[in-house]
Amino acid sequence: MTVLEVTDLHAKHGLLHAVRGISLALAEGETLALVGANGSGKTTLLRTIAGAHPAEKGRVRLDGVDITSVPAHHRVRRGLALVPEGRRLFPELTVLENLQVAGRRGRRGEWTIDTVLDAFPVLRPITRKQASQISGGQQQAAAIARALMTNPRVLLIDEVSLGLAPVAVDAVYESLTRLLGSGATVVLVEQDLERALSVSQRVMCVLEGHVALAAATPDITRDQVTAAYFGVRSATAPAPTAGTATSLHAEIGTP
Ligand code: ATP
Repeated sequence: MTVLEVTDLHAKHGLLHAVRGISLALAEGETLALVGANGSGKTTLLRTIAGAHPAEKGRVRLDGVDITSVPAHHRVRRGLALVPEGRRLFPELTVLENLQVAGRRGRRGEWTIDTVLDAFPVLRPITRKQASQISGGQQQAAAIARALMTNPRVLLIDEVSLGLAPVAVDAVYESLTRLLGSGATVVLVEQDLERALSVSQRVMCVLEGHVALAAATPDITRDQVTAAYFGVRSATAPAPTAGTATSLHAEIGTP
């Protein structure tokens, strides 16, 4: 069943056309890794889906309902949660208070303080610490846990491992992998291609605001994604559509 459907989405920053007609469909329990070079439009895409940035054109549907003009805070209530780049926790509040605030804004469901702390055990010993006083890895865990407190139908996570020490990335991914295995529906932006491919069923590479490649991860190699990442593709090949891997060889000119 399709939970999130994005159709021909466009978004701008002033005159800069950052998202240029992106479409995707995400089924329940599926994880889509969004990759692409710096400035390719990944953050703008996630923010536009979440309602934090206005759509210039196109549609966003959640569970079949058109939410394109629904304000961001109402999208949270409907089940769309964004973990923004840079975490953006409330720095003066404790970890626990950050979770509690989010719990009041979202839907009711399986995620409560106890269940998110079970999912992110690294947070248990630091619930009383101020968010500004914890490490980057702990902040990322807290940011994902905070989003889960809203009991989302779809979780959008921007830059999972950016700026984190390798050991912190491991800890975040340990919890994240369990979460994904439990059937969460997730779009994640990840610079580490190896990690992105290892946890997702689908991958989409964004290049200059459009989809350069969209494929099921078992059907795709790291080299193919890398080629799309750098824009190595035939000038005559048609743009790929979400969820299709068949045209990739022609598309990016790999053997
Ligand atoms: P990164 O990995 O560096 O975060 P990204 O793929 O997430 O990059 P975006 O942050 O969405 O890409 O940026 C897409 C384009 O929009 C870039 O050219 C960027 O410079 C521009 N841009 C992003 N935010 C703004 C803004 N607030 N004002 C003006 N231009 C912006």
